[in-house]
Amino acid sequence: VPPRFHARDLDPETGHATLTNEEAGHLTRVLRLGPGADVDVFDGHGRMFHAVVTSARPGRVELRVLAPAPAASEPAVRVTLVMSALKADKMDAVIRDATMMGAQAIQPVVSTRSEVSLLAIAKGRRVDRWTRVAVASAKQSGRAIVPSIEPPLPLDEWLSVSIGGTRVALVEPTAGTGVSFSSVPRAPAVSLIVGPEGGWTPDEMRAFDTEGVTGVSLGPRTLRAEAAPLVAMAALFEAWSAWAWGEVRSER
Ligand code: SAH
Repeated sequence: VPPRFHARDLDPETGHATLTNEEAGHLTRVLRLGPGADVDVFDGHGRMFHAVVTSARPGRVELRVLAPAPAASEPAVRVTLVMSALKADKMDAVIRDATMMGAQAIQPVVSTRSEVSLLAIAKGRRVDRWTRVAVASAKQSGRAIVPSIEPPLPLDEWLSVSIGGTRVALVEPTAGTGVSFSSVPRAPAVSLIVGPEGGWTPDEMRAFDTEGVTGVSLGPRTLRAEAAPLVAMAALFEAWSAWAWGEVRSER
């Protein structure tokens, strides 16, 4: 498999794409490739192509776009991971794993027991960082889609703006009871809401109830917050036979 790169400006009409910043650095410095090298290039929105390097500098690589290339199939359900912000490397791991598993969007939220504030997220330019992590993970996993990292919100605000669609809160054993994914009606799109290390407060559990958010349990053991999204997506895909488009069933 040729190495894969992400080009925002990929345009099969003009047959041209440009790599900049990390992507150009990865091609020139890390892989030491230059003009004539065969690569794959994807636009982050689902299109992947074979391409050939026409010019290469550490900050800018030009590609000629050739035939469409196969990308990994996407899950049969659109998953938005609504993740209570965690500290730096833990949140990076969540973004990496959710991208690898096929999330379409990641919505960072700040809940009562989050150890990270919206201000700290803004000051640390975390959304830029998380976007870079998502691009790297899409490359590794063969996806042509890079999940969008949505602007961070307080949890209660997200609950009031995201009306409609299936919303599921992952509930730790000490916070309340939850059903399993197999008893949640199959839907084309689902938001999975995962708590911070400190878990949910009683008020948040009540808010889920009044907002019509289904509480789902992943068993009686308490999972680490950064592991919960990975387990939740695997359990969801297995319960709904939704690992890939090809597996979608017409009725549940
Ligand atoms: N401090 C809490 C645990 C929080 S775990 C306590 O002691 O009870 C962090 C988050 O991971 C939870 O809010 C939940 O969203 C998810 N999670 C952890 N274990 C889970 C489980 N067994 N089932 C469903 N979600 C779980």
